[in-house]
Amino acid sequence: ATGPHWDPLRKELALTDTDCIFCKIASHEIPSTIVYEDDLVIAFDDLSPQAPVHTLVIPKDHYRDITDGVPAETLAAMTHAIDEVARAKGLTDGFRVITNKGADAGQTVMHFHMHVLGGKPLGEGLL
Ligand code: IMP
Repeated sequence: ATGPHWDPLRKELALTDTDCIFCKIASHEIPSTIVYEDDLVIAFDDLSPQAPVHTLVIPKDHYRDITDGVPAETLAAMTHAIDEVARAKGLTDGFRVITNKGADAGQTVMHFHMHVLGGKPLGEGLL
């Protein structure tokens, strides 16, 4: 597992969680089907896809969820990654982005991630 490391953007030790499965995916310790990657973020296919395209976009640093003080640069990198995923997966007719926070939303992995869902008409509702 990777330990804490100096983050030049946050100017502090990044909270890499050594027991976090998404931290291990971010450090390539656990293999995944990588769709896009840069210095700040990585996008990989979900293990149990809920749509023909179901890719997760995560920051490489560990944040619990979208409200956990994620830097603007990282959020912008995630937005860029979503665009790259859509291009790579050919989502020319649109897609849906979802992020879960906490128990009521059913968050199961406590490392901030955005679901990119598409590849078929998803229906009109939010759920
Ligand atoms: P959540 O319910 O928003 O926390 O979503 C967690 C997602 O992570 C689920 O859709 C899982 O299928 C997915 N997931 C869990 N472990 C892995 C993995 O090791 N690789 C890829 N996706 C995973």
